[in-house]
Amino acid sequence: MRIPFFSRRGEDLMATDPVCHMQVDTKRPNGGTWEYEGVTYYFCGPGCNRAFQREPEAYLSGEKKIDM
Ligand SMILES: [Zn+2]
Repeated sequence: MRIPFFSRRGEDLMATDPVCHMQVDTKRPNGGTWEYEGVTYYFCGPGCNRAFQREPEAYLSGEKKIDM
């Protein structure tokens, strides 16, 4: 299962944090961004960014998810 990563909220383009599934403003991602297989992912916090970098496939496949 792949997660729908982008949605619009008014003027803002929101991305889904692939780790905790929170909505992240692409203009102000608190956890920064990371590119994986040509796709840029956005994170709510540095912890999610690090977790995703360790095991990107586990989060993209839906096998793993952190509840915030
Ligand atoms: Zn997160």
